Amino acid sequence: MVALSLCLFPLQVLQAEWARAHASIMGTEIAVEVWHREQNKSETAVESVLAEMRRVDALMSVYKNDSEMSQINQYAAEKAVSVSDELFYLIRQALDFSVKTKGAFDITYASVGYLYNFRESTRPDQQAIESALPGIDYRLVALDDEQRSVRFLKNGVRIDLGGIAKGYAVDQAISGLKKQGIEHARVTAGGDTRVLGTRLGRPWTVGIRDPRLGEKMVAVIPLLDEAISTSGDYERYFDESGIRYHHIINPETGDSARGLRSVSIIGPQAVVTDALSTSVFVLGIEAGIELINSMQDYEAIIVDNDGELHYSKGLEQFQATAGQENRRINHESALSAVWNSLRVNRLMQSTIRV
Ligand code: AMP
Ligand code: MG
Repeated sequence: MVALSLCLFPLQVLQAEWARAHASIMGTEIAVEVWHREQNKSETAVESVLAEMRRVDALMSVYKNDSEMSQINQYAAEKAVSVSDELFYLIRQALDFSVKTKGAFDITYASVGYLYNFRESTRPDQQAIESALPGIDYRLVALDDEQRSVRFLKNGVRIDLGGIAKGYAVDQAISGLKKQGIEHARVTAGGDTRVLGTRLGRPWTVGIRDPRLGEKMVAVIPLLDEAISTSGDYERYFDESGIRYHHIINPETGDSARGLRSVSIIGPQAVVTDALSTSVFVLGIEAGIELINSMQDYEAIIVDNDGELHYSKGLEQFQATAGQENRRINHESALSAVWNSLRVNRLMQSTIRV
């Protein structure tokens, strides 16, 4: 079984102890990097991450008719649909984020969202949006704790966990790695990454691109035992008459959220950074930064429509360091600013070189 999946997802062993893999799961690119003294342990660990991603996808995909998620969308308007504890808990977490973000994060966005097809560059017209819009309201999703069931309070409601499930899967993968005794790893699912420990005694680094500047980085973020999620208007989109239609939907309008190019959130848990990056993209700069400033341990970097960067409170000195060079922060200033403002310095002191 392992041998078979190794063929399907080529595993590249760089040094004796490193194992890496790339795969396409959950409709996105998965990348895994693991270090362990025993090479076969790192290889097994990488495989376990891919297996976990596939398991979460099978449970939560709206594109798989037999997933629990699809069962909910099919029947929950008629009757309460019982689901696994795991899916129930994630839906509950998603609804909690709706309360926290005053509805900016809302998994019922899908009531309109399903009418967009970014591969085929098609979108609903205003009339179609208006007739489906009453289905967007997280309060229309009723959860029954005892039955572990989900019920929609209206016809036309759909849910989709696309804004939170990848972060959840990344957290699941990291906790699985920890259980196997892995101390150094990076797991990425699309825009969501979480790292474990160091990369050869140094922090892992994750770059933030300005989507309009190609591959160029506007910031390079060093991370230790932390997650980072980026939401952008360049992942699933099409342009029509100079207007960009993309996959993050403003629940109030049913149109794509306007005003920003990308939002990155840094913090301990990927399920939280994932939900928050989508939320802040909808909320915009002011309300978005205010939300992040109210949350301990979470920071935000926003690229607005002019390519300017905006930071949450914990990263303000980052802004000062950047000065006129706002659009292009060099690696060194990014390192020193973020190391100081996040918890990296303290963590570095307690980290043993591998
Ligand atoms: P992300 O890349 O994490 O920002 O997730 C974007 C995905 O979140 C989209 O592809 C949708 O599946 C989902 N989504 C879009 N708009 C919203 C919204 N307002 N609230 C919650 N999820 C959303
Ligand atoms: Mg997200």
